Amino acid sequence: MEKCRRDAYTTTSRPLMPRRVYIETVGCQMNVLDSELATADLLRAGYEPVDDTRHADVILFNTCSVRQHAEDKIYSALGRLKHVKRQHPDKIIGVLGCMAQKDRQTILRRAPHVDLVIGPGQLARLPELIARVEAGEGPIVELSLDRRADVHGTVRASFLQHDPPRTAEVRPIRQQAMVRIMFGCDKFCTYCIVPAVRGPEQSRPAEEIVAEVRRLAEDGCLAVTLLGQTVDSYRDTSGQQTVRLADLLGRLNEIEGLRRLKFVTSHPRHITTDLIRAVRDLPKVSPYLHVPAQSGSDRILKLMQRGYTAGKYREMLAEIRETIPGAAVTSDFIVGFPSETDEDYRQTVELLRESRFKNSFIFKYSPRPKTKAAELYEDDVPDEIKRQRNNELLTIQNAISLEDAQTWAGRQAEILVEGPSKAARKRPLGDATIQLVGRTVCDRIVVFEGPQELTGRILPVTIEKVDAFTLFGRVDL
Ligand code: SAM
Ligand code: SF4
Repeated sequence: MEKCRRDAYTTTSRPLMPRRVYIETVGCQMNVLDSELATADLLRAGYEPVDDTRHADVILFNTCSVRQHAEDKIYSALGRLKHVKRQHPDKIIGVLGCMAQKDRQTILRRAPHVDLVIGPGQLARLPELIARVEAGEGPIVELSLDRRADVHGTVRASFLQHDPPRTAEVRPIRQQAMVRIMFGCDKFCTYCIVPAVRGPEQSRPAEEIVAEVRRLAEDGCLAVTLLGQTVDSYRDTSGQQTVRLADLLGRLNEIEGLRRLKFVTSHPRHITTDLIRAVRDLPKVSPYLHVPAQSGSDRILKLMQRGYTAGKYREMLAEIRETIPGAAVTSDFIVGFPSETDEDYRQTVELLRESRFKNSFIFKYSPRPKTKAAELYEDDVPDEIKRQRNNELLTIQNAISLEDAQTWAGRQAEILVEGPSKAARKRPLGDATIQLVGRTVCDRIVVFEGPQELTGRILPVTIEKVDAFTLFGRVDL
């Protein structure tokens, strides 16, 4: 572990013991990546990560505000820390990310023992801000500007782009990494808080992304997932020629040592023929696309401001299926959007049944303050109906996922071994052969027995048994 003392540590006198930091992450892959990058910054500033709040000098929550449930979890965790702070006033407690940007001062009102509130666009300043709290300046609230108050593009600049270099120790698996290619979102789907809390859409320069992926590959990383809220609208105009996602994939495909590339999340409107062909033709790009449909009802899609109809979604899916036979496509759906009738819901069921997604994430609509849907439409679908629809869609999807998994029985798949399974991690160490988990190029989870040293390798396995979520195999060495 790197323990050089620089940055924040040069300005004030510090204890010689490394300061210990605990980071808990809620939410999407973008948040997981932000936490990894924050950890990289804190390692450079001399901190040591720990996995228990009791041993931490700094306790950070990287939060999500996409649904109410995610926020409730954080407020409960903060509540539990109230007496800890009373007993250990030196411990620093921070709320980072989307909920910080959304709730602002409310966090300090509801949890006055919090020392730091930092929006996702200010995370670059984390070590400096912690040092200021240590120096007695807290509580500190550091946020990007409110999107609705934009004057001459100042909001964009207030969301700092921050993708610092990192070593493999900040990732759970050395051979796998996420790389952000875009920040923010300009789609303003009426239900969604993301454009407000993550700011305007900004694409990173392609050169910078290529250099980052090259560094990762040199460091032993085999698989990279490119991240963006609407990753397929990636557009770098900083050079002489505009670089779109298909072009970027072409460049990354050339990087020596890199074996797998995928990208999430795609927006149906930006899936182009060029992009589908790039996925088909570039050998390192996984035939895997996450393209949320959200609803099968044109009326609801319009109220959501998604910018496509169910018919257009079907056309896009047909083109993917025709061009890349065997591609794994996954989706998100929201049930119980305001005014969703039985007929609207039936149309969603129809789309789900037809589309044969590898899997789908199904969410109950959760009104988000300051979004258009929350301001304009009454949350009029009773929770009981939302729950029923959610469960029914899950049952239908699970049956499809099982049928899809069954097509794998007896076949060989290439997997990247991620390490011991959850069950194996709970057992005492010592066995030479343990249960391991790997992932296929299409993001299917494969469980098999083998020595732990296989972690990080790409191997062939023969699938012997399946359930809806997991393939069970035998490694072919
Ligand atoms: N940018 C991605 C996209 O457009 O699909 C996903 C962003 S969002 C973090 C992930 C998923 O959360 C969305 O696809 C949507 O299904 C769900 N979601 C967003 N806002 C929601 C809300 N207010 N209530 C319920 N689900 C929501
Ligand atoms: Fe939210 Fe829509 Fe943007 Fe996805 S595309 S982040 S759902 S506003």
